[in-house]
Amino acid sequence: MSQHYTFKGLLTENGWLENVTVSVNEIGEISAIQSNSETAGERVDGYALPGFQNAHSHAFQYAMAGLAELHEGTGDPDDFWSWRTAMYDLALRISPEHLEAIATQLYAEMVRHGYTEVAEFHYLHHDTNGNPYHNLAELGERLMAAAQTAGIHITLILMFYQQGGFNMPAEDKQRRFISKTIDDYYRLLEQTEAIAKSYKNTTVGIGIHSLRAVEPESIIQLCNALQGDKPFHIHISEQLKEIEDCLATYGKRPVEWLLDHCDVNDNYHLVHATHLNEYEVKGIAATKANVVICPSTEGNLGDGLFPFNYFKRLNGNWSIGTDSHIGLNPFEELRILDYGQRLTTHKRNTFYKSNLGDSGFNAIKMAWKTGRKAMGKQNTEFFKIGDAFNAVIMDATAPLVATASTKHLCNTFVYASDVSHQLGTIINGKWLVKSGKHLNADSITAKFKATMKDLGSRL
Ligand code: ZN
Repeated sequence: MSQHYTFKGLLTENGWLENVTVSVNEIGEISAIQSNSETAGERVDGYALPGFQNAHSHAFQYAMAGLAELHEGTGDPDDFWSWRTAMYDLALRISPEHLEAIATQLYAEMVRHGYTEVAEFHYLHHDTNGNPYHNLAELGERLMAAAQTAGIHITLILMFYQQGGFNMPAEDKQRRFISKTIDDYYRLLEQTEAIAKSYKNTTVGIGIHSLRAVEPESIIQLCNALQGDKPFHIHISEQLKEIEDCLATYGKRPVEWLLDHCDVNDNYHLVHATHLNEYEVKGIAATKANVVICPSTEGNLGDGLFPFNYFKRLNGNWSIGTDSHIGLNPFEELRILDYGQRLTTHKRNTFYKSNLGDSGFNAIKMAWKTGRKAMGKQNTEFFKIGDAFNAVIMDATAPLVATASTKHLCNTFVYASDVSHQLGTIINGKWLVKSGKHLNADSITAKFKATMKDLGSRL
């Protein structure tokens, strides 16, 4: 049976439609959109934006969000590498049940903040001793189950992680991540894909953790085998030390090496790509590869600023991700990205493009389109007939929203709102979050609390 929602407004690629009725079929797909219509179905005093795409997540790291800020002890400068040691310690203690409970809570929180799709960059593969589980894809399956319970669409990006650093064996602490050979990785991929078939709204992507984590021959072999049917993700050039090590080992910078050895194309999603020279920025833009920027995590870890203005001038494609989940608000990610640029360029038009000056609209659109590609979805239109109806609904009665004309709406949302301005989130045509609460919040949070108590890491 069809269902109908009538919204005060709905954002399309050409701007706002007003008094819009969205009809949804029995499996949650959009069957019709009618503007200036008579009210049909549920009347919602809100504005519908396309659901945000979270293009980079490590679910287990949510358990340590906010825990790496007590800079005690030696007084030595705390940096990415000391944070990583704390993260490894956590990764070694998580059971499959823990992972599912943490990921379910995280994904429910993502949905509450307006994300409807997530690309999970998954590299925690084996048991605490580093041995494969009986079900090779045990932990990947837990992530799929978590996404299903929370209601978010997931693209599980299965990561190949082979060694500890450039030409260095894995550290003992990395034992849960490691596939020794590319054939081990392919077996894991095969099992993951087989299991994914039995989960709704679930797809699989591929990737390598980073250049330092896989032998060069295997990187080239995996990249050459790409058929373009799955998105390929990689962490790259996040840290200056990674660039120094790569130069010392290969005589090239990471992105330079990738561009020179692999057929980089629009199926590639380079996560962070923070430190780039001119050749690398031009190379990414020219090959139509995509960059996944994670502004709150990159800021939290002190990574650096992506050369956004230059990349944008070359028509580069980018999406956003929440990575370590220190922040979960998509509007905040866009703001941090923008303000980092403003503070260094002393200009305010970060998202200006092709004579189009609506910053909020441009940011939502650019991040959404590339975010869809990061999920392995090629549709590039907001609210296309036949697509799942996934939307975040903004409160039309919030004071700044109620008094704004449609030309100011996107900027009011991106620059001057928080989650209290969201009425809820609709996925597959159903409210999953309404009035700020996830449908299954009570049971999800009870399991999460029990898990954190068991791990004891937040005490
Ligand atoms: Zn990451």
